[in-house]
Amino acid sequence: MLYLDNSATTKIHPEVKEAMLPFIMEEYGNPSSKYYSLAENAKVAVKEARESLASLLGCDHSEIIFTSGSTESNNMIIKGVADYYSSKGNHIITSKVEHPSVLETCRYLETKGIVVTYLEVDQYGRVNLEDVSTSITESTILVSIIWGNNEVGSLNNIKEISNLCLEKNVFFHTDATQVIGKVEVNLEDYPGITFLSCSGHKFHGPKGIGATYIRKDKYGILTKITPLLHGGGQENDVRSGTLAVHNIVGLGTAAKIAHNNLENNIKKLKELEDYLISILEEKFSEQIVINNDKVNKIPGIISVQFKGLNNELLVKSLAPVIAVSTGSACSSSKPSHVLDAIGLTDEEIRSTMRISLSTFIKKEELDIFFQL
Ligand code: PMP
Repeated sequence: MLYLDNSATTKIHPEVKEAMLPFIMEEYGNPSSKYYSLAENAKVAVKEARESLASLLGCDHSEIIFTSGSTESNNMIIKGVADYYSSKGNHIITSKVEHPSVLETCRYLETKGIVVTYLEVDQYGRVNLEDVSTSITESTILVSIIWGNNEVGSLNNIKEISNLCLEKNVFFHTDATQVIGKVEVNLEDYPGITFLSCSGHKFHGPKGIGATYIRKDKYGILTKITPLLHGGGQENDVRSGTLAVHNIVGLGTAAKIAHNNLENNIKKLKELEDYLISILEEKFSEQIVINNDKVNKIPGIISVQFKGLNNELLVKSLAPVIAVSTGSACSSSKPSHVLDAIGLTDEEIRSTMRISLSTFIKKEELDIFFQL
């Protein structure tokens, strides 16, 4: 079975598994404990993992807060900002093509008096800078825009949006879950990004672990938010809970591997994508329509319509040989809100399949599409 659903999750890298094993078995200490070696070893491992992720993201290790993944990171930032800055304002700006962990959080906050602007997007799912600019008001406390879309792969112009937010003195959060390891993310080049979410299992790390980047202010203090999880004061009092050391070690190792191979991985994913598109065009020509843009996108994500076919039936019939999806795994029971927002008809949405590649795939394995 050829796995082509890497936007849903990825295979754990063998080196990640090897790095994690000792922290599941022998090195089971709690990094918040003191003095004895099990605790100290766990502490060192967490520190190293934090440094690896910080180095991949181009930030300081003290700006990394480990979470259970991007769903938590998105919730933590949006709810945390809304609560902490409630006396400053009650307006949040986001887009119609965000992940449900952003959209549903915003909808929940609307029931608590927060006003949310859901920006329209263009035919590829990108927001317009002018729309962001004109939506910002005196009461805007946060702009939250996805970096790269999980269904159609389009990259937003995060440089321009973050610069605008910096200029207007508004916090900017970006959900970078799908771009880590596939797009260069160097936070030193993005002074306007206040918060960022990422998740280990999207770049060959384990599930159940992710991080939130929180920028330090000019005094070296982390931008304040209300914690989602109160308790033992771990993670700088921002996110309590005993650290999942084995998962953190896995995330750190995945970050190190992603960092060392970034350029090659981007190149390989682009080559695989071009090759697969050429096969699809040759084999299916008039029967397919590619929904995604060809440029400014996450390499390796293809959104394709098979005209006249039902995507559920298609994905189901392919399942024994190829694992693909109709769209996002997080909203697979509903028609895609992303494809709806980019202007596709119900019929077009129902015939769309998402193929998402990984660097573990060999080019020749994609030849299986010739046999369909
Ligand atoms: N944001 C995006 C863009 C995603 O693709 C996902 C995962 N599908 C998430 C957030 C949620 O991430 P996690 O699985 O780590 O909670």
